[in-house]
Amino acid sequence: MRAIAFSLSIICLLLTGCAADPPRADREIWAMDTIIELTAYGPAADRALDQGAALLYELDALLSVTNPDSAVSRINQSAGEPVAVPHEAAALVARAGALSADTAGALDITLYPLVQAYGFISEEHHVPSREQRAELLRLADWTAVTVSGDTVQLAPGMAIDLGAVAKGYASQRLIELLSAQGVASAIVSLGGNVQTLGSRPDGSPWRVAVRDPLDVDGMVGVVSVTDTAVVTSGGYQRYFEQDGVRYHHILDPSTGLPANSGLLSATVVCADGTTADGLSTALFVLGKERALELWRTRGDFEAILVGEDRVVTVTAGLASSFTSADSAAGYTLEIAD
Ligand code: AMP
Ligand code: MG
Repeated sequence: MRAIAFSLSIICLLLTGCAADPPRADREIWAMDTIIELTAYGPAADRALDQGAALLYELDALLSVTNPDSAVSRINQSAGEPVAVPHEAAALVARAGALSADTAGALDITLYPLVQAYGFISEEHHVPSREQRAELLRLADWTAVTVSGDTVQLAPGMAIDLGAVAKGYASQRLIELLSAQGVASAIVSLGGNVQTLGSRPDGSPWRVAVRDPLDVDGMVGVVSVTDTAVVTSGGYQRYFEQDGVRYHHILDPSTGLPANSGLLSATVVCADGTTADGLSTALFVLGKERALELWRTRGDFEAILVGEDRVVTVTAGLASSFTSADSAAGYTLEIAD
């Protein structure tokens, strides 16, 4: 009996030894205007990541608002006229429109002329005057974007930018590609937009940190997930200061000003990357109460909302998978239900 137990424990050791140490592949690339880190495990990982990197360059060329040859630029250049674009570009514009409808227009890809006026694209920052803001805001109207099959049409003078959904869409496509290539365990981060495939090679969940918006080297906590996207939008991610005022890159479509909803960041945890990205931007604009209303009605995502009042609100579905960081002592944790 003892001999059997002994040999079994050797087998277990060997098995766990194999499971804990599968081949690991990593890539770090620059695309979609951000640093992208890809990690995958298993025999198929290396080849799959090469394909994944190629996919990211393709999506960048398709969706970039600064590349004059991209589908998005062609849509903008043809404002007022219908333009045929590759199917996935038209489909993503349609997805963004659906998310605008679901979020009372908090997500609005037609804010682009205003985003440009602040200089968030050119990096030549500028605070638009009240008149300029009003004028550019008149051009923003997500209901004036028409998608019919693979043809997209904007109203004259309008322009779109898929910056609020493109990284989440790319991470979703990437995870689908890795899975189709036989990878069962992977994590990708597109400038902080994280998406995971399966669990870690040892079977434990992935642990994704949620940054402290007031100290970006620190974190407010860690969320444990499998097969899930974890996407954060926050005013701390891109901003400039003028006359002592901070202007960040997420605009409120109702004012044309940087969203000022009382949130420092909004993290969405949800299976689909595009939804997670679109909703995180929208929740940041909506603020805590409206974000929680949306959480209650949709039921397809969870959220971590960091408030200016230093309350971290975690939706009930994450109560057991979110752990506050010891370093986040200045924050109070609250579970929303
Ligand atoms: P994200 O980092 O995903 O929250 O997206 C922010 C980016 O989307 C900004 O850099 C702008 O290019 C664009 N953007 C800003 N405000 C909005 C908004 N309310 N809806 C959609 N896109 C926006
Ligand atoms: Mg987003």
